[in-house]
Amino acid sequence: MRLTRSLIPTLKENPAEAQIVSHRLMLRAGMIRQQSAGIYAWLPLGQRVLSRIAAIVRDEQNRAGVQEILMPTIQSADLWRESGRYDAYGPEMLRIRDRHDREMLYGPTNEEMVTALMRDNVQSYRDLPQMLYHVQWKFRDEVRPRFGVLRGREFLMKDGYSFDQDQAGAVASYRRMMLAYMRTFRRLGVRAIPMRADTGPIGGDLSHEFHILAPTGESGVFYDSAFEAIDLGSDSYSYERPEDLDAFFAQMTGLYAATDEKHDPAAWGQVAEADRREGRGIEVGQIFYFGTKYSETMGFTVVGPDGAKIHPEMGSYGIGVSRLAGAIIEASHDQAGIIWPDNVAPFRAAILNLRQGDAVTDGLCEQIYARLSEQDLGDQALYDDRPARAGEKFADADLLGHPWQIIVGPRGAANNQVELKRRETGERSELSLEDALVRVLS
Ligand code: ATP
Ligand code: MG
Repeated sequence: MRLTRSLIPTLKENPAEAQIVSHRLMLRAGMIRQQSAGIYAWLPLGQRVLSRIAAIVRDEQNRAGVQEILMPTIQSADLWRESGRYDAYGPEMLRIRDRHDREMLYGPTNEEMVTALMRDNVQSYRDLPQMLYHVQWKFRDEVRPRFGVLRGREFLMKDGYSFDQDQAGAVASYRRMMLAYMRTFRRLGVRAIPMRADTGPIGGDLSHEFHILAPTGESGVFYDSAFEAIDLGSDSYSYERPEDLDAFFAQMTGLYAATDEKHDPAAWGQVAEADRREGRGIEVGQIFYFGTKYSETMGFTVVGPDGAKIHPEMGSYGIGVSRLAGAIIEASHDQAGIIWPDNVAPFRAAILNLRQGDAVTDGLCEQIYARLSEQDLGDQALYDDRPARAGEKFADADLLGHPWQIIVGPRGAANNQVELKRRETGERSELSLEDALVRVLS
């Protein structure tokens, strides 16, 4: 993408409405614009990040054997009356009437709908287990939408659901999903710690929240520092071996980690004092096992192994896809701006032309730009082709947070040399065009 042709409305000043760094930086980098309280339009840079996050989430769900579907945003109130949640949900639910005066709602979550889908299409225990997910917009009329996309009213969520014939199967599905989550967060370039959590209105008795540590997090968290040293979501575990899922779960739950709601001072006291870490966390995901709560209230049965009808055991599993865009920035930024982890960066590199209009410099920049935009590579570079001062280009590239900056000035260009800067470390090196491309693409 050429900067002169793109809609990246950067702001020099800090917007007054933004209280925390990710909200400030997302506005300043021209990623998002608010449309109403807690409702945002995603501009090109923001949309690229959102779709990269969603692609990684999808890929790890698919690897774990979870099937992608797509359910609608608008749901019927009658469906929610079946579970009893239509009245229980309260003012967070956006209730709508259609032209025939039928009561509808904008879905805050999809347990009811997915249970009805399974009820209407699955009759036997032989068709279980099943795991399904979708990535879809949700609406929750939060009392205090704030912190930009971290607490929106309309937000993008990956929500998944599991159906098993018995409790042991449901627990195995829960562990499988936990491993998929840890791998997802690892690929997103953040450390998220699984913490024992309250089950809240969803009900049930087993739940974990996944928290990214950041001083601006809304939850207080307590965890054993040993979490900082382990490979979260290690590749040594296989989804195919039940004993691996058990070992993984034992590893994740063997160390103390809890949010303030579930904090247990007695168990905390057992953790060596030097290993105790207290801080703030941003909840980027939560998983629940809730048994037969929905299958019972909504009359979902299958024929069991001995011929009698049974209620399938269920779990549900959320990841805040749009919240993650902000949470990653909370965990990865500096004074100058965003520092994107490689896998979610909107562009791998910025090409900074320090003398726009100089034939040799322009020529080299065009060559680099063509190489990074070739068909098999996709659109990997943002070419700063503005007739602007070098200082302005440096500041904007730092603000936008591309992992690499390829800096091209007239002197180097004459010798086919560029300067390559790594955003994360600030490290700069003089390299030939070819060597720079190898590093950017590795
Ligand atoms: P919170 O406690 O932050 O209000 P929640 O526990 O109500 O969230 P869940 O029902 O667990 O949310 O939803 C799954 C995930 O969706 C959460 O872990 C979070 O990442 C994301 N999420 C929930 N509410 C919002 C929101 N208002 N804005 C953005 N993301 C959200
Ligand atoms: Mg939650």
